[in-house]
Amino acid sequence: MQLYSTNNPALRTNLREAIFQGLPADNGLYMPVNIPVMPASFIQNLDQYTFPEIALHLAKAMIGDEIPEHDLATIIQKAINFPAPVVQLEEHTTVLELFHGPSLAFKDFGARFMAQTMSYFNRGEEQELTILVATSGDTGGAVAAGFYQTPGIRVVILYPSGKVSPLQEKQLTTLGHNITALEVDGTFDDCQALVKQAFLDTALRQQLRLSSANSINISRLIPQVFYYWEAWKQLYRAHEKIVFVVPSGNFGNLTAGLLAYKMGLPVHHFIAATNANDVVPEYLETGRFKTRPSVRTISNAMDVGNPSNFVRMLDLFGSTWNIMQKHITGYSFSDEQTKEAMRAVYRDKKYILDPHGAVGYLAWNAYHKENPETTGVILETAHPAKFLEDVEEILGEKISIPKALADISEKEKKAVPMKADYNAFKNWLSQDF
Ligand SMILES: *Cc1c(COP(=O)(O)O)cnc(C)c1O
Repeated sequence: MQLYSTNNPALRTNLREAIFQGLPADNGLYMPVNIPVMPASFIQNLDQYTFPEIALHLAKAMIGDEIPEHDLATIIQKAINFPAPVVQLEEHTTVLELFHGPSLAFKDFGARFMAQTMSYFNRGEEQELTILVATSGDTGGAVAAGFYQTPGIRVVILYPSGKVSPLQEKQLTTLGHNITALEVDGTFDDCQALVKQAFLDTALRQQLRLSSANSINISRLIPQVFYYWEAWKQLYRAHEKIVFVVPSGNFGNLTAGLLAYKMGLPVHHFIAATNANDVVPEYLETGRFKTRPSVRTISNAMDVGNPSNFVRMLDLFGSTWNIMQKHITGYSFSDEQTKEAMRAVYRDKKYILDPHGAVGYLAWNAYHKENPETTGVILETAHPAKFLEDVEEILGEKISIPKALADISEKEKKAVPMKADYNAFKNWLSQDF
C-alpha cells in the first residue's frame, strides 16, 4: 500500500512506515495513493457477506500485498470481533450502534485494528515497542483495550489527574499487564506536551523504540471504512437514498465515510453533526475555515476547535469547497437542544441516545425535513452508560449498565503518579524499561 503526505504528494511511503511514524516528516497527513473501487458484484451482493468478510475484502483492496491475505484475515478476525447493528427508530430513521466493543465507543474499531497491524509489522523485532498516548478520556480506554496483551508492545497512557470521568479512569488503570497508566498532575495539554517532547528527544529514542497511537494514524481510519459498508448492507434491500449522519469532532469518522464512498459505496449524502464547536459546518456554509479554541459541551469527545482530519477531507475533494458542499451538509446544536433530543427520543421511542448520538439525531431531523425521501443512518458513537451521570440527570432516571462497565468499576485502580515535568517522565520511562 502506497501513501502520500497531504503536504507533498511526491512524499511516499508504505503502510508499515506510515503506521509506525504516524505523521509524515513534513507534518501533513498520510493518504492512500490509490483508493480502490470495489466490483459491482460485491456491492450488489453485499448482504451475502458477514461483517468480517466485508472487512477482509475492503482491507485486501486497500492494503494490497503488503500484508498477505492469510495474515490480514487473522488481523481482521482479532480486531473486528464485535457487531455493528443498525437499529430502526422510525421508518426512515435508523441508528448504527458502534459501541459493542470493549470500551463501548466506536474508537474500539480503530484501536483494535491499529494494535493488530502494529503487532504484525513489529514481529521479528527484538526490542520492545513502546506506545505513548496522551488522553483526555475516550481514546485512552480504546487504546488500552486494543493493545491489551499484544506481544512485543507496551503501552504508556498519560491522563490528567481528576479530569477524566471515574469510569474512564477505570478503563485506563485496571488492565495491567502491558498497559501502564500515568496519572499526571496537570492538564491534558501537559500530558500531550510530555509525549511530544519524548518524541523529539533523540537520546531517549536511541534507547527506546517509540510510537504513538494518535488518532491521525492511518491504521485507525482504515477499519472505520468497514462499518459504513456493514450498515449499508443492512439497509439497501429495503431503502434508497441512504444518508450517513456523523457526530464529529476531529472528523476521522466522517473521513472514513468519504473513503467508503470513493470505494464505490452508494451513499446519497453525508451529514456533519457538531455541537457548539462548529468550524466545519461554518466552512460548509461559508467556504471559510476558521479554527478557534474549543468550548466545553456535554458531547465532550467532539469538543474540537481545530479538527485534525479536515485536511484529509479537503484532499479528497481537491480542496474545492463547492464540491465538498454537494456531498456534505453541516449542522451544529447547543447542549440544551441535545438534552431535549435525548429526552424526546427516550419518551417517544424508548431508545437511549448518548449526547454524541443525540447531536446526530438533531442534524438528521433538520435534514430529513427538507429531504423526506431519504433514509438516515445516525452513527451512535458511544454507549450512553459511558456518560452515566449526565445521561441519568438528563433523563431523570437510572439507566442500566452493560456488564463490561459494571465489572470494571469493581476493579482496583493502578496508576503511577507523575509530575507534569519532562525530566521526571523521562527518568521513569528510561528506568522502567
Ligand atoms: C471521538 C469521538 C467522536 C468524534 O469522532 P471524530 O472521528 O473525532 O470526529 C464522537 N463521539 C464519540 C463518543 C467519540 O469518542
